[in-house]
Amino acid sequence: MTMLAIRAARLFDGTGTTADPIVYVKDGIVVGVSAGGTPPSDAEVLDLGPVTLLPGLVDAHTHLVFDAGPDPVGRLLSVDDDELLRGARVAATRALHAGITTVRDLGDRGYVTRRLRAELDRAPHTGPHVLSAGPPITSPRGHCWWLGGETSGVDGIRAAVASRAEHGVDVIKVLATGGEITRGTKPYLLQFSPPELAAAADEAHRHGLPAAAHAHSAEAIAAAIDAGFDTVEHGSFLTADGASPDYDVIGKLAASETIVSATLGYLPGEPVPASTAAISAALTSIFTAQRDAGVRMIVTSDAGIGPSKPHDVLPYAAEMFLLFGDPAPAALRAVTSDAAAACGLGATKGRVAAGYDADLLAVAGNPASDITALREVRAVFRAGVRVR
Ligand SMILES: [Zn+2]
Repeated sequence: MTMLAIRAARLFDGTGTTADPIVYVKDGIVVGVSAGGTPPSDAEVLDLGPVTLLPGLVDAHTHLVFDAGPDPVGRLLSVDDDELLRGARVAATRALHAGITTVRDLGDRGYVTRRLRAELDRAPHTGPHVLSAGPPITSPRGHCWWLGGETSGVDGIRAAVASRAEHGVDVIKVLATGGEITRGTKPYLLQFSPPELAAAADEAHRHGLPAAAHAHSAEAIAAAIDAGFDTVEHGSFLTADGASPDYDVIGKLAASETIVSATLGYLPGEPVPASTAAISAALTSIFTAQRDAGVRMIVTSDAGIGPSKPHDVLPYAAEMFLLFGDPAPAALRAVTSDAAAACGLGATKGRVAAGYDADLLAVAGNPASDITALREVRAVFRAGVRVR
């Protein structure tokens, strides 16, 4: 296959920005990056003009089986798995079109997104790279029980993890607390005991899989750190009457290896749930406190759970991250190299460098100085093929 030489005005390679890059791509892989210079005569040159080239974005927390409509749960309960798969394909395509070339699905029903991953692995140019958790592990009648992942007890949890590993999942997702969208559960209450959580993370690691804990409360976040989870999803420090930082737990997070996956981003003009809107100022100060303490964070979306969370909302999430005091390059890392590393893909995704997959995004302007440029998509490449 001919070598492709992509020229742009700037390159954000996942760590920093350089000018006048040429990115060389062959057989779906980046084979070299140079600053300036002249491509070899047998290369096909593609000059994208005044754009910034960057790694395709990584959304490490999404839900492809939720349709981002006004009632995603009701709709999910009213259709069969084949229809869920069809919707997941649409959602994945929408993400790819926005330059989100890797998505980590943190909760489906019937291993639908595992099926989608298999489809897209055979035809990578038709969708993003999909990582799948399968049905999230929950307690009896716990958060998202209707996705089919109810279990309890240390033995039950170990068996649930082993069964997911057998299905070929990429990550184990455990719902450590309740959640807003499941009637009868409370986001600020633990729904597993510390020994159950420890068993889940240990069993995941025994199978070579990362473990992600949905944890909204300080108690649950502390328990997830102690259990050895790789990521805390949400990390929002919710309480019975709102949200409030627990500085001891924030210190514990900062001292741990655990990464907080901050589910951010709302599409302007779409309704945000009243419960979220009411605590948005508190959440900003909670995440700011985490950044100030040195907590490692990535930016994710929780896409699919409502009209303000379409599957291409991640650029808005990166914008929100700046509210916590970081400069734009940190937000870019949080949706590229840092997010890829958090998913266990640090050697293949999230950077533009020799040996990395040629999943690329080109945007007008310079997102390292103006993060809103992430929305000005000019080209998307998946496995070396231009798909937009
Ligand atoms: Zn979620």
